Amino acid sequence: MSRVQVKLIHACYVPGGRYAQPGDIVSLSVNQARAFVSSGRAMQLKVSPPTQRQPAPAAPPPPDLYSCPHCDKEYKTESGLSNHVATKHGEDD
Ligand SMILES: [Zn+2]
Repeated sequence: MSRVQVKLIHACYVPGGRYAQPGDIVSLSVNQARAFVSSGRAMQLKVSPPTQRQPAPAAPPPPDLYSCPHCDKEYKTESGLSNHVATKHGEDD
């Protein structure tokens, strides 16, 4: 059962029989906390949500191969492709 922490505004008995002072932070069940907050006896503390693993945005993979736009040749490096284009297709403009 999830618990909610509230900070008491007024001194009052809290579940468990303890008499809590203003400013005390007590851990209550969700329903109890709601009742305390709605009656003005306490204010709910900010609850940190359970850490959710955000899926990392998929980064586009680097191109494996550089394809020659003029023929079927493929190169692993851009410079390799550039060299190919310059030597094999250099005459074409
Ligand atoms: Zn080519």
